[in-house]
Amino acid sequence: MDLEGKVALVTGAARGIGRAIAIGLAHAGCDVAVADIAQNQDGITVYPLGSDAELAVTAGQVRKLGRGCTAIQADVTKPADVEQMMQTIEQRLGGLDILVANAGIIMAGPVASMSEAEWDRIFSVNVKGVFLCARAAIPRLVARGGGRIVNVASVAGKTGRAGLAGYCASKAAVISMTQSMAEELGPMKIAVNAICPGYLKTAMFTQVLNPLLARLYHVPEDEVFERFVQRQTFLGRGQTPEDIAEATIYLCRAENVTGIALTVAGGGEVH
Ligand code: NAP
Repeated sequence: MDLEGKVALVTGAARGIGRAIAIGLAHAGCDVAVADIAQNQDGITVYPLGSDAELAVTAGQVRKLGRGCTAIQADVTKPADVEQMMQTIEQRLGGLDILVANAGIIMAGPVASMSEAEWDRIFSVNVKGVFLCARAAIPRLVARGGGRIVNVASVAGKTGRAGLAGYCASKAAVISMTQSMAEELGPMKIAVNAICPGYLKTAMFTQVLNPLLARLYHVPEDEVFERFVQRQTFLGRGQTPEDIAEATIYLCRAENVTGIALTVAGGGEVH
């Protein structure tokens, strides 16, 4: 699909991977709606979430590229927020061609001590959020004659890991939903794919996974990321948000690719 003049929505765009995808799509010619809970706290997630100031920075960077942009505060777990977000996009950007469902959270800890509230919040953001955004986006994409959905899953959705049962299960669900939607929406000219990022130094990794890995491998927290990716990946480095944006843009452009879960992990996961 030629991306020039297309309208894209990126959720979880205040920072990290979502911000890089929004900027990458703008470079590729899209107008971009950037959405985020942008509240810093949701009461359950143990690390600080992004802020409305960070969302405004993303929007500013998209506009600097000369593209249309609207910044929307929306919690993807709330159907009313999601519907309002879609209506705002239609009013301000004229329609929707691409949904990138990127918003996600992580919580770590053994199953035996994980609270029900933590389990529910992970599934609410990572799984229900993807469902609600797709449900609201599909009629809009159909109205434009087709489009693209890219769901941000994870290598954690391909292999379950100790201390991450809720997160891994939620990302496996995203991969499964992607396959179902790809078959369902193919006749409507909507390609649906997942991206499985590997290891990135964004908030969720540095604040949650670094302490977990440091304890597991008896390595200082400030060294564990580099040591982990050296050992874990064929290419010997972690991924950047720009690596994930590049793969997302490929999936948006590709004419005959649907139903896949594209791993971007430098060889850290090869399925
Ligand atoms: P991040 O910097 O924490 O960004 C995640 C974004 O999602 C944040 O901006 C966050 O909001 C937003 N968000 C959280 N709950 C939300 C909600 N209810 N509604 C709307 N937005 C919400 O983490 P990231 O590393 O860029 O993660 C992006 C995606 O990549 C996630 O789906 C994650 O699971 C996946 N991923 C990351 C890695 C990694 O190594 N970092 C690896 C594999 C997959 P706030 O801005 O308010 O925080």
